[in-house]
Amino acid sequence: MLSLRTALPALIVTLFAVHASAQPAPVILTPAVVEAGSPELIRVNAPATATLSADWLGHSITFFPGRGGHDWYALAGVDVEQATGPSVLHVTLRLADGATRDLSRTVEIHPAHYRTETLRVPPRFVEPSPAQLKEIEAEMALKKEVFAHTAPEPLWSGRFRAPVSAPPTDSFGVRRMFNGQLASIHKGMDFRAHIGTPVHASADGVVTLAQKLYFEGNCVIIDHGLGLTTTSMHLSRIDVHVGQHVRAGQLIGLSGATGRVTGPHLHWSVRWEGAYLDPARLLRLNLSGVR
Ligand SMILES: [Zn+2]
Repeated sequence: MLSLRTALPALIVTLFAVHASAQPAPVILTPAVVEAGSPELIRVNAPATATLSADWLGHSITFFPGRGGHDWYALAGVDVEQATGPSVLHVTLRLADGATRDLSRTVEIHPAHYRTETLRVPPRFVEPSPAQLKEIEAEMALKKEVFAHTAPEPLWSGRFRAPVSAPPTDSFGVRRMFNGQLASIHKGMDFRAHIGTPVHASADGVVTLAQKLYFEGNCVIIDHGLGLTTTSMHLSRIDVHVGQHVRAGQLIGLSGATGRVTGPHLHWSVRWEGAYLDPARLLRLNLSGVR
């Protein structure tokens, strides 16, 4: 896989970086191997009196101070459809005395190997009528509006938990062919939940959408702050309303089979700044020491 053409510049960059600085890297990403669809916890070792500005892959990143007082964190990620290859994470540190340091680093985006699957669904979900298309378009505008609003600080604390106690499936990132003609990428995680299984908030947050949508069925979106949201779809019942503050583990509804489904399940998706992230990887991230 590693050709000389791709390996050589990386080697030169590595040698130069080692030569230029003997200090440990001040910007750490977890998971360290960054793949399309990865959520990434970014840690910057800097004093609490510093200010940070950062951007990566066209998103501006807002850091928050960690629990310990000597690290700053951001919970970000790479969209499932992000092109692979090197990217630059721009980070500028401004110290209390006004001095600035450029902490930018190269981050290699590795390919994630997701499967391809073929499915059959009722024809109306593949070729919606003009009236249904109008409904879908109106809902797209609504979702755009919903995702544009986010709390200016993280609302979560500790690690995210699974929204249901039901078996998860390895379904994120799967390329799906609907009725042999419409290709889409599965941008969430399906849990094999029976109709009526309690669905819980994965972390603290604010409900930003709680209603029936064409594809999603009964849908609940929770904002966890700084652009991070979780969405639960196909619910049989919704138990929360827009604007409601929810705590981790709180009941938000019951799982079901509404919207575009082939059977009862909970579709659960994670977005950061419009990027779709792998929910399984978010659940694996150890955030307990962060905040
Ligand atoms: Zn799904």
